[in-house]
Amino acid sequence: MNSYRAEALVLKSQDLNEADKLLTLFSLEDGKIRAVARGARRSRNRLLAPSQPFSHSHLLLFPGKGLDTVSQGEITESFRSLREDLTKMVFSSYAAELVDEFSQERDKSPAVFYLLLEFFRFLSQDKPPEIGLRFFQLQLLTSVGFRPELGQCVNCGAVLDGGAKSAPPAFSPALGGVLCPRCSREAEKVMGLSAGGLASLQFLLTATWPTLSRFRPQPEQMAELERLLEAYIDERLEKRPRAREFLHLAVKPDEI
Ligand SMILES: [Zn+2]
Repeated sequence: MNSYRAEALVLKSQDLNEADKLLTLFSLEDGKIRAVARGARRSRNRLLAPSQPFSHSHLLLFPGKGLDTVSQGEITESFRSLREDLTKMVFSSYAAELVDEFSQERDKSPAVFYLLLEFFRFLSQDKPPEIGLRFFQLQLLTSVGFRPELGQCVNCGAVLDGGAKSAPPAFSPALGGVLCPRCSREAEKVMGLSAGGLASLQFLLTATWPTLSRFRPQPEQMAELERLLEAYIDERLEKRPRAREFLHLAVKPDEI
């Protein structure tokens, strides 16, 4: 079989044996790929750098019977600071885990590739990691078909006009969006949603990386976004992502 090229980010790099690494990659051309980097654990190996977690490389791969093999790699961006700074590492690991969990092998998605690449760049430029993460999460959910519904009740379809006199809606992680006040009284596991929380979600759904700098939420809005998005993600994945635990250790309120 013929070799193929891939522009890829390393989601995960695991030791396979004394010499080799097993890489989980997300490529522009083919989406998620699992491949062996032979010799990548050896200090002078040419695949050592392209096998580091989060690195952005151009690779040449050979298809195998089981796993493919990386035969050549050239680093484009090493993203070294994401491995050396604990906070950045935790945020990068969590984002990589979410991409891994929400994607199937060989399910191509250039949008997800560029989203993760831009988040790594955002983190490496010392921008506020938690704001970047919430934007990343909403955009990832949208790209994989789980965009939360914010405009109308996910139970009865009533349009929520958001007028000042209307009662605040609620959020249902299980149903994937907002509930009108009437439905929220009957549904189970409903979360409160403040006007500021809803506005933050709406801003992040339509923001871009350049416009994200205009987002200046209050700490309580960030806490609300965290609760809603993490509950929604757990509901979609039917589990808690592993890297979430470390996120709580790395984030201090004054860093938001
Ligand atoms: Zn309703």
